[in-house]
Amino acid sequence: MSVTSVSEVARWFGEAEAVVVLTGAGISTESGIPDFRGPQGVWTRNPAAQHLFTFENYVADPEVRRQAWAARLASPVWTAEPNAGHRALAEFERTGRLRAVLTQNIDGLHQAAGSSAGLVVELHGTARETACLECGDRLPMAEVLPRIETGEADPACLECGGILKSATISFGQQLDADVIEAAVAATRGADLFVAIGTSLGVYPAAGLCDYAVARGTRLVVVNAEPTPYDGDAAAVLREPIGEVLPRLVAAGAR
Ligand code: NAD
Repeated sequence: MSVTSVSEVARWFGEAEAVVVLTGAGISTESGIPDFRGPQGVWTRNPAAQHLFTFENYVADPEVRRQAWAARLASPVWTAEPNAGHRALAEFERTGRLRAVLTQNIDGLHQAAGSSAGLVVELHGTARETACLECGDRLPMAEVLPRIETGEADPACLECGGILKSATISFGQQLDADVIEAAVAATRGADLFVAIGTSLGVYPAAGLCDYAVARGTRLVVVNAEPTPYDGDAAAVLREPIGEVLPRLVAAGAR
């Protein structure tokens, strides 16, 4: 039976000793970064854009890489600021009862809001770095984007000539095993698991909800639209994230 009262969930935030959150693109829409599957999502508006996010296509097709680099250059991520939702989680960390921020996001806004790097687990990597698919060399994205601006449509690795990509996980790419293990370990230790701004359709990230529920951990879903896990949740909150998280955190501080 799920409840939808913010005050009831705020009480749970106050009682919990080990809160773990799983965030998705929905926490960053109020910072001006569109999600994928929400009403204004990149894929909702243009389903063909999914083509750019498939690893096999990226490796095989230089045109896909050119379009991906052009999209990176134009991305709102570089100028986005954290919003009230990100800041509320950074604030809640001060209570010592936020054990992990497991994020599917690649925008770095949790850290920009003040969440400790040690607490943030980037399940799908980061757009703020590039990785060479041959030699693994990593560089700040800020060092590579100027090459696009000066006319290199598909910049190669300067170390080995290999294909460069943002250090993110595309469809068809494996998640880092250490990163998954860190996320599972954090979920194992949680007594309140909160999924925020995610449609919970991407695995293995969404499977962390299964793991939490199987262990008897209270699950809360904060998302504007229905998710496949709403029936498992002790509470589902549909309010905008930037409004509801500050209320939960303020009430949950003790
Ligand atoms: P998703 O697009 O599948 O779902 C986002 C959900 O958030 C939607 O159900 C939407 O209704 C909800 N939402 C949007 N804004 C909201 C708000 N202000 N308040 C409440 N709910 C809101 O996102 P996902 O589940 O994270 O999966 C998408 C994948 O795309 C992830 O793997 C992620 O890595 C990647 N992605 C990341 C970013 C980013 O880093 N900001 C942006 C787009 C996509």
